[in-house]
Amino acid sequence: MTLLPHPVTRQPFTSPVAPGTGWPDDPAAPDTPVAHDADDVRLLARAEDLDEVTARVSVCAACPRLVGWREQVALEKRASYADQPYWGRPIAGWGDDEPSLLIVGLAPAANGGNRTGRIFTGDPSADWLFASLHRTGWATQPTSEHAGDGQRLVDARMVATVRCAPPENKPTAVERDTCAPWIASEITLLRPSLRAVVALGGFGWEGALRSLAAAGLTTTVRRPRFAHGAEVVLTDEAGRELTLLGCYHPSPHNTYTGRLTREMTDEVFTRAAGLCGRMSA
Ligand code: SF4
Repeated sequence: MTLLPHPVTRQPFTSPVAPGTGWPDDPAAPDTPVAHDADDVRLLARAEDLDEVTARVSVCAACPRLVGWREQVALEKRASYADQPYWGRPIAGWGDDEPSLLIVGLAPAANGGNRTGRIFTGDPSADWLFASLHRTGWATQPTSEHAGDGQRLVDARMVATVRCAPPENKPTAVERDTCAPWIASEITLLRPSLRAVVALGGFGWEGALRSLAAAGLTTTVRRPRFAHGAEVVLTDEAGRELTLLGCYHPSPHNTYTGRLTREMTDEVFTRAAGLCGRMSA
């Protein structure tokens, strides 16, 4: 079995990385329970502790097609990363444990999160997103290249609606539904502190709405539509409000073509800061 050094710590790892072997911020231990199908996910996602949910999702093996793909990419590797170990496991939520802001994307990238083990880390989308998060006060550094690089979110957390890298960035509806209990559980546990959610792209928007509804947050708006800068107020059973904001996905397609500019990205996260009481909107 080939061992390669982690780019930051230089500790050697297999690809995929075995749970609890020292990868920076690996939430799992060798004995963390593994979900093997949708019923297991529903059962294991019921944990009442955020750290335990995070650990369990990071070893999940419930979607055979996605497990096969994430591990195949981890073994074959992109040529430019041939000297690196690949995480090759699901990407857990990452950031503050009691955040005001939750950032929701669709799924990790095969050579981004699936390589680095951290959401929005190690690809051009991450470069764009973290530069904006740093400018608007949500991240301590302007780049996010590797787990263990010292990057930290401030009062914010990131999650994906589907936690494994899918072929062609397209999970199936069954895979989306199988993964849904993980994010629903996470949102339920984070709910007391959350004030705003930024959804990246139309798929992130739909996924966020579904997950928020599963966590008991509803809106009077019928089928809220995604747009850059769109806002929807949702309310929980206790009458507490949370605002969902739309932002174009920071994909190279959107940023290279100018569909999403630096100013447009900063506006969304500055607005989120205002909603979360971090600065005037
Ligand atoms: S996509 Fe979600 S449910 Fe499917 S294997 Fe990955 S973590 Fe598990």
